[in-house]
Amino acid sequence: LGSEVHVDSDVEIDEEEEDNLLGGLQINSSADIEVPDRLVDQVIGQDHARDIILKAAKQRRHVMMIGSPGTGKSMLAKAMSQLLPKEELQDVLVYHNPDDGNEPKVRTVPAGKGEQIVDAHKEEARKRNQMRSFLMWIIIAVVFGYAILIAQALLLGIIAAGVIYLAFKYMSRGSDAMVPNLLVNNADQQVAPFEDATGAHAGALLGDVRHDPFQSGGMETPSHDRVEAGAIHKSNKGVLFVDEINTLDIRSQQKLMTAIQEGEFAITGQSERSSGAMVQTEPVPTDFVMVAAGNLDAMENMHPALRSRIKGYGYEVYMDDTIEDSPEMRRKYARFVAQEVQNDGRLPPFTDEAIEEIILEARRRAGRKGHLTLKFRSLGGLVRVSGDIARAESRERTRREDVLQAKARSRSIEQQLADDYIERRKDYELTVNQGDVVGRVNGLAVMGEDSGIVLPVMAEVTPSQGPGEVIATGQLKEMAQEAVQNVSAIIKKFSDEDISEKDVHIQFVQAGEGGVDGDSASITVATAVISALEGIPVRQDMAMTGSLSVRGDVLPVGGVTHKIEAAAKSGLDTVIIPKANEQDVMIEDEYKEQIEIIPVSHISEVLDVALAGEPAKDSLIDRLKNITGSALEQREVG
Ligand code: ADP
Repeated sequence: LGSEVHVDSDVEIDEEEEDNLLGGLQINSSADIEVPDRLVDQVIGQDHARDIILKAAKQRRHVMMIGSPGTGKSMLAKAMSQLLPKEELQDVLVYHNPDDGNEPKVRTVPAGKGEQIVDAHKEEARKRNQMRSFLMWIIIAVVFGYAILIAQALLLGIIAAGVIYLAFKYMSRGSDAMVPNLLVNNADQQVAPFEDATGAHAGALLGDVRHDPFQSGGMETPSHDRVEAGAIHKSNKGVLFVDEINTLDIRSQQKLMTAIQEGEFAITGQSERSSGAMVQTEPVPTDFVMVAAGNLDAMENMHPALRSRIKGYGYEVYMDDTIEDSPEMRRKYARFVAQEVQNDGRLPPFTDEAIEEIILEARRRAGRKGHLTLKFRSLGGLVRVSGDIARAESRERTRREDVLQAKARSRSIEQQLADDYIERRKDYELTVNQGDVVGRVNGLAVMGEDSGIVLPVMAEVTPSQGPGEVIATGQLKEMAQEAVQNVSAIIKKFSDEDISEKDVHIQFVQAGEGGVDGDSASITVATAVISALEGIPVRQDMAMTGSLSVRGDVLPVGGVTHKIEAAAKSGLDTVIIPKANEQDVMIEDEYKEQIEIIPVSHISEVLDVALAGEPAKDSLIDRLKNITGSALEQREVG
């Protein structure tokens, strides 16, 4: 089920070349790769979610999907609608109720019948109108004839016009009231309906009755004709998909739950002051399978009863963000490119090299060694931009160069901001990338999800009047205090200076842009403080990232790849990262020669690399190694 990659018969998988990027696939272009017909077979990865969808479709169960955007939640929901039986589809008609015009009647008929019924009613109404207008013209002719005869044309002309107006009014009223409103029409539906109600307002979700500005006097539209179906009605016998379920207001969530429970839901006007609010239909069927989706937050903010409803009568499934890299998986990623090209319909097929570049990017974006990203929406965006570039130049194939160009072009807002930021700082020379300075360290931070910036930290240590204080500004204050606390335990052991009697001032140079994750700057703060305290300068041609434990261990942090790239872009030569992050480094080739990466596991190694001024530094490191070593032993014995 979708786990096979079908290729044309003249295309082979070379088993010896399984290790190459295409997993041994021998193709000229993406056009050689066959795309499966069923959407469910096009889904890559997410095996668990796919199994659940197959099962839930068979049993008509609701599903809750939690996971990152663009990993295939709506794709799977849509795939589910293709798996539901089409035979059960129904049309829904709304009829005028002669006993109470504000309570239209509702009838369901097999799909396709609705149109026939409406046509039959229209035909009947047309015949009746013909008859009526025939009679009408005779009356009018007689009246006019009489008027001319007795030469009182003007007065009688006005009367005649009045008669004609009333006659038409009567006719149209009669016919509208007769013809039912085809509320849900499944005549042309090839598969069970799929309705995406993400972010829908109440009317779009639950149905509505339009306002009638006339309401009386013969100009009004009969109420049954103003009834509109909501997504819960249109998805009857199909799938109702609601992403970001928690953003749906609580009242709508409650009503959604009622619709699920009862399997039918009457339509009324949603706006209280509209005349539509006076109308309420008989119940309209809402026998849909619900696929609710969202991120982890969504679960917390979702109406608990709705969640337990889904849980009790269905499945909950978590979507994966990455998948293990294997030749078979890479062949599927090649098929993904073919799928996106086919779905778009206008993109030139990708050459094998272009596909390889996409697979490389999938590796890079995974941010995890030996994995590929499953965030396909943005990967699909890259495929489209690449293809558009090739198309703009009227080429028959999308080449590797186009993908490279697209990568540079399709940068996220954060990446663009970060680049702009790096440029601006270069202009103002805020990023110092040479020489040695006491108390100043180039830290690294992440902006948004996918871009890094160099964030310099400055520390100064001054004698305190009272008890020592850590003085830092902004949102990073707490982190700075914690980092100083952690490092002070280490400092106490090797230094004559008692840091608890000093004020430590810490400044993050231009950290105004937000999005800085504090924890990953703690070795930066520690290094700046030690440098300031001991008066030993720090190399400015390097940057660092890492978290620090009280024992001086350097702990892993997020976003190392983006941070290293930011350091390289800022013209730095060396970057220190936690050893535990070594396997997460997936920087682009162009940066590999620009920057040296030094993985470390202890603060003494950080200082060894970062501090300049040999004799003082060496003695400091020696002291530090000795003392932290014995400190650790003591701790372990204790
Ligand atoms: P979500 O609903 O999780 O935000 P979508 O299902 O809307 O994501 O995904 C957007 C597009 O990305 C899909 O239309 C499809 O082209 C592609 N896509 C997403 N996930 C997958 C997947 N697992 N396999 C293949 N293509 C995918």
